[in-house]
Amino acid sequence: MADQAFVTLATTDSYARGAMVLGKALRNNNTSKKLVALIGPHVSEPCQSVLKRIYDEVKLVDVLDSGDTAHLAMMKRPDLGVTITKLHCWTLTHYSKCVFMDADTLVLSNVDELFEREELSAAPDPGWPDCFNSGVFVFRPSVETYGKLLQFCTEHGSFDGGDQGVLNGFFNDWATADISKHLPFIYNLSSIAIYTYLPAFKQYGGNAKVVHFLGKTKPWSYTFDPKAKRLLGGEQEFTSHPTFLLDWWTLYASAVVPMLREQYGDQPFHSGCVEGEGSFSQEVKPQPSSKERKEQWEQGQADYMGMDSFDNIKRRLDTFLK
Ligand code: UDP
Ligand code: MN
Repeated sequence: MADQAFVTLATTDSYARGAMVLGKALRNNNTSKKLVALIGPHVSEPCQSVLKRIYDEVKLVDVLDSGDTAHLAMMKRPDLGVTITKLHCWTLTHYSKCVFMDADTLVLSNVDELFEREELSAAPDPGWPDCFNSGVFVFRPSVETYGKLLQFCTEHGSFDGGDQGVLNGFFNDWATADISKHLPFIYNLSSIAIYTYLPAFKQYGGNAKVVHFLGKTKPWSYTFDPKAKRLLGGEQEFTSHPTFLLDWWTLYASAVVPMLREQYGDQPFHSGCVEGEGSFSQEVKPQPSSKERKEQWEQGQADYMGMDSFDNIKRRLDTFLK
């Protein structure tokens, strides 16, 4: 339907790459909806061009420039910069219904059925399930709602400093009012759940439709060896399901990097992909019990170059998924 759209947001080139992968994944899964990317003024020209090739509509939202209520809200709450930018999705009133998706999400299958839901539908947050996670939500663009959201923002701020705090404050009966507004967790499977509730992940993870790489480390924080189909973790822990991370990188390297290369032309750009030299092969040690591993994860002691290396985690999860 022409008046329904998936919407995402990118204010930097890094998030723009996330948006490119998300857009490609939505297309590959044959969505019948329009695709809209909201971008900030700092997204580079080549990245804007690639986004325009993938998305039906790329809209610049510069709330500091706008001179409207958003601008006023920003002046009062400079701490809520990206949040107020995200709220701009409610101004897309040429669509009757939209699904917002964070730029760090990836769809694994067609999720057009989300449009059967009403505002505000979202999945529970894994950290506090009485709150919804604002990485994936169904909404109805409306100037009136937009105004109320901005007003709420200026008056109450955000209890977590981001959009999730504002939106949960505003749509504050989500937890109890209407179960049809609770999206199943498979529409916003956050990587965190793999380590906090592994048996449930083993049972249901194979049904995942949308993965969300929430948290500090994003897919683009890693580097990738496309020949060996291998992720190089560098200094960071693997905080996401490595198979999902590989899905992200495989799509990025095959479909997005060629477009970026075209747009950058002679200008230097870092794709995040490296040529494989085999220097990252790791010795496989005997695995400790899952209880020990869980305890170590919970204490933040991921042995990312050893037992929690990408290869080892992948091997284990592959057997679970089988
Ligand atoms: N975002 C952005 N620029 C930023 C930070 C966030 O464009 O500097 C957008 C982007 O769409 C991102 C969303 O806001 O996916 C929410 O932020 P993030 O995904 O980093 O939060 P998390 O899901 O990790 O809580
Ligand atoms: Mn996110």
